[in-house]
Amino acid sequence: MTVFNKVEFDNHEQVVFCSDEESGLKAIIAVHNTQLGPAVGGCRLWDYASDEDAVYDVLRLSKGMTYKNAVARLPFGGGKSVIIGDAKKIKSESLFRAFGRQLERLSGSYYSAEDVNITTADVAIMNKETNYVLGLEGKSGNPSPFTALGTFLGIKAAFKHMNGHEDLSGVKVSVQGLGAVAYSLCEYLHGVGAQLFVTDINQASIDRVVKDFNAIAVDIDEIYDLDVDVYAPCALGATINDETIPRIKAKIIAGCANNQLAESRHGEVLREKGVLYAPDYVINAGGIINVWYETLEGGYNEAASTKHVEGIYTTLCEIFERSKTEQKSTHLIADELAQEIIKNGL
Ligand code: NAD
Repeated sequence: MTVFNKVEFDNHEQVVFCSDEESGLKAIIAVHNTQLGPAVGGCRLWDYASDEDAVYDVLRLSKGMTYKNAVARLPFGGGKSVIIGDAKKIKSESLFRAFGRQLERLSGSYYSAEDVNITTADVAIMNKETNYVLGLEGKSGNPSPFTALGTFLGIKAAFKHMNGHEDLSGVKVSVQGLGAVAYSLCEYLHGVGAQLFVTDINQASIDRVVKDFNAIAVDIDEIYDLDVDVYAPCALGATINDETIPRIKAKIIAGCANNQLAESRHGEVLREKGVLYAPDYVINAGGIINVWYETLEGGYNEAASTKHVEGIYTTLCEIFERSKTEQKSTHLIADELAQEIIKNGL
């Protein structure tokens, strides 16, 4: 298995493979870059098909965090962790305690938080073994509503850039994945009159959004073929790829999922097709911004955090404008912006 020469490795400072026999923990912690501060990024619990898939995922997510934190102007480096296994079967007090002990061993070069299948309750268990966790209940709490707010504002910014106004009433939006972030996002979109087309692998999540927000449910694979204005990927990564791009009719792609582009080149393919893509790590930074506010002296401040999250709108407008002027895809413009900030400081 190639590691150091993999494109995704991208000079990671440290990658740690962890296991604990008693709890069955199998995890990987990736610290990509600590130039701007300690690496911060959530922990994902997922039943990967292979160890290679888990390595690939954690490396891509970790690098994404370096760029996300930089563009959000946070004094954080980038890192991420994955626990391998079926969330319905392996969750236990001893598993999260064992993971907490692994975090403790890294002495603060990496702080973990929530991601897919990891709740504030799980992070609270890690916290029994280590202080190197963020997003704690009673402090900044669940980051998902803030990620949803940033994503909603990002959709508005994209709509404004493309249509000259941001009135979303009657606008058709497809939402793929209806988890913690997407539920709040659907609430925002329904609140301004958007028409929702939704899918998930979990029927209960679909039923809830259909009932609460008058959404129309579609099959898992049908989501790519819909005649909609906006496609919001809110499940897992790599849904924008050679197979799906020819099928996507939306002129805007803006959602909360991490690593939406299967490969970097797909960003340019979208631009050539006239699709405006909101770079994932810019639009979905609301949660990590909110987490930062719990680290400040004086304690968590929701109003200040919300104001910072609202800045995602302006950042995206600037990226869209620069992309138009320089005739370069939005994700490359975002990468350049991140690299400038990492090099020159916040
Ligand atoms: P979640 O686990 O609550 O939701 C994910 C949803 O996607 C689940 O309902 C799941 O059933 C569904 N899903 C999985 N595979 C699917 C498929 N193939 N098709 C349709 N639905 C599918 O997670 P979340 O916290 O809402 O995060 C969603 C995405 O946003 C993830 O990519 C995550 O990394 C990213 N993200 C989350 C946050 C946050 O604050 N939670 C912050 C930044 C980025």
